Amino acid sequence: MATIIPLADMRAQSRSDAFATFAREAALAPGLPGPVADTRGRSLSDLRISVTDRCNFRCVYCMPKDVFGADYPYLPHTDLLTFEEITRIARVFVGMGVRKIRLTGGEPLLRRKVERLVEMLRGLGDVDLTLTTNGALLAKKAKDLRAAGLSRVTVSLDSLDDATFRAMNDVDFPVAKVLEGIDAAAVAGLAPLKINMVVKRGMNEDSIVPMARRFKGSGHIVRFIEYMDVGATNGWRMDDVVSAREIVAAIGARMPLVQCDPNYRGEVAERWRYADGSGEIGVIASVTQAFCRDCTRARLSTEGRLFTCLFANDGYDLRALVRGDFDDDALARAVAAIWRQRDDRYSEIRTASTPRAAKVEMSYIGG
Ligand code: SAM
Repeated sequence: MATIIPLADMRAQSRSDAFATFAREAALAPGLPGPVADTRGRSLSDLRISVTDRCNFRCVYCMPKDVFGADYPYLPHTDLLTFEEITRIARVFVGMGVRKIRLTGGEPLLRRKVERLVEMLRGLGDVDLTLTTNGALLAKKAKDLRAAGLSRVTVSLDSLDDATFRAMNDVDFPVAKVLEGIDAAAVAGLAPLKINMVVKRGMNEDSIVPMARRFKGSGHIVRFIEYMDVGATNGWRMDDVVSAREIVAAIGARMPLVQCDPNYRGEVAERWRYADGSGEIGVIASVTQAFCRDCTRARLSTEGRLFTCLFANDGYDLRALVRGDFDDDALARAVAAIWRQRDDRYSEIRTASTPRAAKVEMSYIGG
């Protein structure tokens, strides 16, 4: 059996070395794992895969320009997992019960021939295969993504007000182009779309009601996301968070809302439907109502590190196993051992001082 290294001891050693040793020892242990649960009884059912750490936007709350400038050390191409490596790892996860795979980044549509990766992942069978994008390249790619087997798409759009949106993406990108992408995705058969809007106080809370109104009755679902303290570069403050409760109140005052049941256990968005039957919205209260209790998501970084929490500061090097002499069964044993000792619940224990802790950036781990 692999030695389970307590997290505290891991921190005392060089973390990355300890993580690598752990994954390697687990891979060598006998026996094959079935579906696994972590120390809090949470299963492993979703996998988010970051396919690039680069983005064509510089959203002020995610990849601020002063940090992610021209000299930012992005990963060299040889460090990225290849499509074959991603597919191999994903196959192992599917064998362990994963049924939802989301491609993200950085901006996933910047990865060359990403539709080929979609096609390869579709070959893994009956999984819900989705992708989160800023929409800039969606009008061009929607048809090919659908043809390759993508199930649905989520588009991030923080405001319908052009000046506000350009200021938030900080590359002067117009709203109209994202709306074109949304329409193209719907025509291509990737509907119903989810549209993610991160709300930051003083920046775009005036856009909440117009956004709800614009997509009410369209079949698409706008999801309002509380601004989070991911990474260490966005200067997050609790005062900048507009709570899910405030968001629902603002919309509900103009367009009455009724809360509805989750579609499944662990759904991150709280669902609200319009009382007149013209669709629904979601609110993701990751700060004010943490949902760690139901978190079944694993995250694979662009260069193959497995993170068991969005707010983690290190991951387990699966690429070393994939590029080493380990077969798929060994890989599955490593993933199982990692998942079984998972104890993360960052959002539940967040305090005023935790935002300053070292954490990986959202653009690297994938949102
Ligand atoms: N480039 C793609 C996009 O824009 O959707 C995928 C990656 S992006 C990191 C994924 C999602 O994370 C986006 O909806 C983005 O708005 C959200 N996000 C980034 N930083 C965030 C933060 N600090 N709080 C809440 N959501 C955030």
